[in-house]
Amino acid sequence: MEVLMRNMFQAIGKNRSANQLAKRYGLRFGAARFVAGETIGQSIEVVRKLNQSGRVVTLDHLGEFISTEAEAMESTEMCLRTLDAIAESGVQSNLSLKMTSLGLDIDKELCIGNMRKILDRAREYGNFVRIDMEDYAHCQVSLDIYRELRQTYDNVGIVIQAYLFRTEQDIKDLNELRANLRLVKGAYKESPKVAFPEKKDVDENYKKIIKMHLLNGNYTAVASHDENMIEFTKQIVKEHGIPNDRFEFQMLYGICEELQNRLVAEGYKVRVYVPYGIDWFGYFMRRLAERPANVWFVLKNMFK
Ligand code: FAD
Repeated sequence: MEVLMRNMFQAIGKNRSANQLAKRYGLRFGAARFVAGETIGQSIEVVRKLNQSGRVVTLDHLGEFISTEAEAMESTEMCLRTLDAIAESGVQSNLSLKMTSLGLDIDKELCIGNMRKILDRAREYGNFVRIDMEDYAHCQVSLDIYRELRQTYDNVGIVIQAYLFRTEQDIKDLNELRANLRLVKGAYKESPKVAFPEKKDVDENYKKIIKMHLLNGNYTAVASHDENMIEFTKQIVKEHGIPNDRFEFQMLYGICEELQNRLVAEGYKVRVYVPYGIDWFGYFMRRLAERPANVWFVLKNMFK
């Protein structure tokens, strides 16, 4: 049953018409628990509150299903404006983005050009940009672009997903770039030809790559709500004397607040991933797919 629901939410989240429809009606069904608002102003207020509680942020202007160059330019502009708003307001946040929203599926060079504009602007402000990892079809090209950008920029990082078979090799290869990586389990529905189908194997691989990247001496963002993974990370850094400024924990806005606050109280750096924008539907569906128990929360909100 859980697997069926997971597949269903993943499929609806990719449906273009459902996404377009949701855009028209604004944040609904309790999506506001996971999405900070539709405007930059609303999202900056959320960041400010999170900062007051000791947490830093990565802001993501939501954008999926880009099919024209004009839309890619619009998304790029929104990323630039988000960086401006962060700098002007003085909040503690960097930027996360998806390269498909910058035109990756239209023209690789267009996407690289847009990434350069964003990274230049971020560099002017002394800020950092994280490239989210999307589905397997975009994995190789995303890593190729990251490699190219890394030749010029220090302020860029990428995400690596533990559920992919290729990941251990990617971690080895990225070591020569001293890559700043966010490590996640992986959020997309992938074929058993490319990804571990069993959760226990994903968890094992996740532990393996956390340890490898930390011991390679590279900056590591452990992005998980799984307390076992968090405890594992704490144990590794303690055993190997890795200082707190070499790693951080990351969690999603609206998920495991108590755990986030507990880690801050223990002296760890915690970064909250805060998405905003009118394109909230696909992101919201992925969060429901991760935890079908959230559906009760949605149902409650529908009848409020
Ligand atoms: P799980 O084993 O799935 O969950 C552990 C526990 O966490 C659950 O028992 C539950 O208590 C809690 N939990 C997990 N998810 C939810 C939820 N949706 N609602 C309520 N509770 C929940 N994936 C990508 O593929 N690409 C990315 O670029 C990417 N970026 C991310 C950035 C951040 C900051 C985070 C935290 C995740 C990101 N993800 C990304 C998603 C990630 O791949 C997982 O799908 C997601 O984090 C759930 O896995 P988990 O590690 O929390 O562990």
